Amino acid sequence: MDMNIFTLIGQIVVLVIILLVALCFITTILGLYLLKKDKLIFPKLLLFTLNLTYTTIKNVSRLLQLDDLMVDRISIDLRNRLNKLEFENTKAEDVIIVLPHCLRDTTCPAVLGESGLECVKCGKCSIGIIKKISEQKNIDVYIVPGSSFIKNILKQRKFKAVIGVACPLDLNLAMTSLHDFTPQGVYLLTDGCINTTVDVEEVIDLINKTLPATNYSINDFKEE
Ligand code: SF4
Repeated sequence: MDMNIFTLIGQIVVLVIILLVALCFITTILGLYLLKKDKLIFPKLLLFTLNLTYTTIKNVSRLLQLDDLMVDRISIDLRNRLNKLEFENTKAEDVIIVLPHCLRDTTCPAVLGESGLECVKCGKCSIGIIKKISEQKNIDVYIVPGSSFIKNILKQRKFKAVIGVACPLDLNLAMTSLHDFTPQGVYLLTDGCINTTVDVEEVIDLINKTLPATNYSINDFKEE
């Protein structure tokens, strides 16, 4: 009798492992297809399996010495696409932008306040340009040193959508926890603790899409 129970448990464990491996395989193939072909196939199912198999895919990727941030990038791209329409139908004043502290210049004169870094738009880094354009549309910009500041923002004000910039790992985690706020994410081009970079045009493009739609460009604010 005992043997039968152990055999059954063993079979269930093997079945679960096979299902997990199959899910990881399907998720990776669909995710790579999405990234390479720029297509969207079963996005909600893919997001679900990505969340379910996230840790396993990461561990296997590290074991095979592959880029384990691939799973974060796929997840960010999926959420961006799934939220695109709703985001573009959101009024600018209902949108906030959350930028990482590490984008600032090494000689940044800004001080840290309750809502993050208080940028004075000195022009030494891309945050200044993003802030100038956001002000034209009444979009609040928060420059935060860590995800704990996002909790402060949530307590401070109401918003319907968020544009987030961060490294792929942090951005994916933040977009997952803020999934009720129609997040749109732009991941950093270079990582690190200071002087990181982002595709500013990509951020401006998202700002322009908030209602009323606008056509601002980086050149409109560079010389101010
Ligand atoms: S633009 Fe703002 S964040 Fe960037 S260095 Fe100047 S004060 Fe700091």
